[in-house]
Amino acid sequence: MYVLVINAGSSSLKYQLLDMSNEGVLSKGLCERIGIDGRLVHETEKGKYTFELAMPDHAAAMAIVLDTLLDSNHGVIKSKEEIKAVGHRVVHGGEAFAASVLITDEVEAAIEAVSELAPLHNPPNLTGIRACKQHMPGVPQVAVFDTAFHQTMPEKAFLYAIDYDLYKKHKIRRYGFHGTSHKYVSECAAELLKRPAKDLKLVTCHLGNGVSLCAVDGGVSVDTSMGMTPLEGLAMGTRCGDIDPAVVQFIMEKECISAQQAGDLLNKKSGVLGISGVSSDFRDLSAAANDGNSRAAAAMDVFAYRVAGYIGRYAACMNGLDAIVFTAGIGENDVGIREKVCTYLTWFGVEIDPELNGKRGQALDVSKPSAKVRVLVIPTNEELVIARDTKSILK
Ligand code: AMP
Repeated sequence: MYVLVINAGSSSLKYQLLDMSNEGVLSKGLCERIGIDGRLVHETEKGKYTFELAMPDHAAAMAIVLDTLLDSNHGVIKSKEEIKAVGHRVVHGGEAFAASVLITDEVEAAIEAVSELAPLHNPPNLTGIRACKQHMPGVPQVAVFDTAFHQTMPEKAFLYAIDYDLYKKHKIRRYGFHGTSHKYVSECAAELLKRPAKDLKLVTCHLGNGVSLCAVDGGVSVDTSMGMTPLEGLAMGTRCGDIDPAVVQFIMEKECISAQQAGDLLNKKSGVLGISGVSSDFRDLSAAANDGNSRAAAAMDVFAYRVAGYIGRYAACMNGLDAIVFTAGIGENDVGIREKVCTYLTWFGVEIDPELNGKRGQALDVSKPSAKVRVLVIPTNEELVIARDTKSILK
């Protein structure tokens, strides 16, 4: 059974075609600059191809993806009918969705209704769904939500300490994101540790351009660092994370900027980019810090200090901790950041083996044998979770 996974952003569309008989990836790619000009990067086992092609909208991009998958030179299928289902990443499911669902007209309307909570993400996700419906009528479409895994959070973790009526009226509460990633790596962690998920207390650290931590107790999310939007929590590439809410009003008054501009500042010009003034990319930050740039070094220190602090907080919230899991671009690749974070946690019984910590690209326990709390590095695979959910819903 072939499943197409789609992740549609405002001007991009990522895809992956998986053969679910062996969970192998037949092809993957990315349409970029949709609505501007258009570029497709398409990959199969035969090679990687780049095409400059006009993509006025997502429907046009989707048509190009299907044509490319069917192409006699770069394609991997002979007929569209080989694609049995499409799984879509949908960022915000609000309180309506605690699990993945088959997309019906009612589901589409519910995703639209929750768009005000994720105005940058849900509308492009919907555009992707509609483009697929247009080009693959009758093929079942499934929505997999970033927020769904966190719907098990108890009220004490998801309520903000504001007027309760605001929660009831506007659904202002904490939702959390990166749910597919936290779910995947927490399941892999149980396998790696050879222990049942129900007996484990884990903190999963998704450290990518967006950053979130999740307290996973007995296989379910009990707390997570992102909130109503992906701005809350850790310091990220360009997002500020936790901040005194009064700072927002203060900046608006001092800099004479609008609410929209303040939102842009905190989402796009803050985080490690804001502190360092160098880059949001940790490879650039490391290089600058090694060259003596003190702001780049400070940005990395703030980042690691906050990650360690959240791990401590979640150990307290769960009243225990069996393992910490690092994943995503920084979590999987940045040996130095992992080491920096773990240095704060020796009191908990964290001890990493520097040689194991230096390895990359595989799921690994990087702890010393004597460590009381294990440290795991697990490459995430959100597309696989989406494809698995899609397959299981069709069954
Ligand atoms: P993601 O959002 O998971 O794709 O992660 C993207 C981020 O991972 C980039 O912005 C980099 O900061 C970081 N990253 C990727 N590769 C490396 C690497 N080899 N070393 C350090 N950081 C990396």
